[in-house]
Amino acid sequence: MPIMNILENIPTKRIAVKLKPSAEKMVKRGHPWIFQDSITKLNVDDGNAGDLVIIYDNKKNNFLACGLYDPYSPIRVKLIQFKKSAQINDAWFVSKISEAYEIRKSLLETDTNSYRLIYGENDNLPGLIADVYDHVLVVKLYSHIWFPYLNWIISILIEISGCKTVVLRLSRLLQTKGETFGLHDGQVIFGTLDSEVVIFREYSVLFSANVIKGHKTGYFLDHRHNRKRVGELAKGKTVLDVFSYAGGFSVHALKGGAKDVISLDISRQALEMAQNNASLNNVKGNHSIMVADAFEGLQSLINQKKQFDIVVIDPPSFAKRESEILKAKNSYARLARLGVQLVVPNGILILASCSSRVIAEEFFEISEENILASGRYFSILEKTKHDIDHPITFPEGAYLKCGYYKIK
Ligand code: SAH
Repeated sequence: MPIMNILENIPTKRIAVKLKPSAEKMVKRGHPWIFQDSITKLNVDDGNAGDLVIIYDNKKNNFLACGLYDPYSPIRVKLIQFKKSAQINDAWFVSKISEAYEIRKSLLETDTNSYRLIYGENDNLPGLIADVYDHVLVVKLYSHIWFPYLNWIISILIEISGCKTVVLRLSRLLQTKGETFGLHDGQVIFGTLDSEVVIFREYSVLFSANVIKGHKTGYFLDHRHNRKRVGELAKGKTVLDVFSYAGGFSVHALKGGAKDVISLDISRQALEMAQNNASLNNVKGNHSIMVADAFEGLQSLINQKKQFDIVVIDPPSFAKRESEILKAKNSYARLARLGVQLVVPNGILILASCSSRVIAEEFFEISEENILASGRYFSILEKTKHDIDHPITFPEGAYLKCGYYKIK
């Protein structure tokens, strides 16, 4: 396999590290994060992003794990290999990326050509996301640790995914701190991109994503199975899709035969994408958009005595920081209380959360308490988590949960 030459060679060194006993325990359990304050011994004065860190056991001095040094993050070392030592070379990357591809293979047997090939820590590549939209691979870096290995990584991702174009996206941290070796956010680093809007399929439904300017890598792939489910439930129904973004749920509902769909979002630009996505598909139902703050929009629909067969509420992460958890829980409670009033008797309320700091059990409890508090009873149809292209291997990797409630 030819190795790409996107970057000049970036030299790295090896660093030996020992940890506080509590952190050592976490490493033995396979947790990928080592915070700065849990390091007790480090055999260099300054580490550079991507230096290879070997963690040694305090008592026996044997190999525990290895990872990459990140001077720009409080998570100072991101672990990539546990228990057995290994050379971190092109063959290592081939094995990790192939393993990741294997996990997703069954999805690609459906009429779907958009998927997350690499989901960071959960695929042993912390802070690295690789999403595929048709023949375009979007690689988003959230950490500087990958620059020294990027030539290998990109070559192997292309080889395994068969993509013809690669777009690099850089997180805000990478755009504001440290060296990016001349690379910038939105750069096409391999092949050509005819249009920044790429059309792809999700279970036969067509969507488009702006891979240069869109949120994250352009689209949210994580809800794929929930969208498909909504499509299956939607025949002949009226649907309200709150926080619709590019219309993921709305378009599946329309394609599934929904009679009337309203996409509600605060962003007009997102709603234009939703309309555009609906028009890519041959749909008969009526699609309208509502530009509004969700809380105000829901209240105004309640005031107008509107009701829908299906209401989907999938907000952005409300708890990006520890300090926001309480406020996030209150917002979930308010959304459940508002949402339930908009559901016809025996209709379905679908409540989702993508805040990793609010765990699934808590989120479902809040949702259920607040449905009941509104005086309506419910039965649980289904509770789901991530789709298979978002495998979860450590607690912080889990963020998505979605409850389907039949409202009496
Ligand atoms: N449900 C979408 C993803 C939602 S992303 C999907 O399936 O793909 C979150 C969306 O919430 C973004 O489009 C953002 O514009 C919107 N948003 C954020 N704050 C909002 C608010 N207060 N009211 C309405 N929409 C909001």
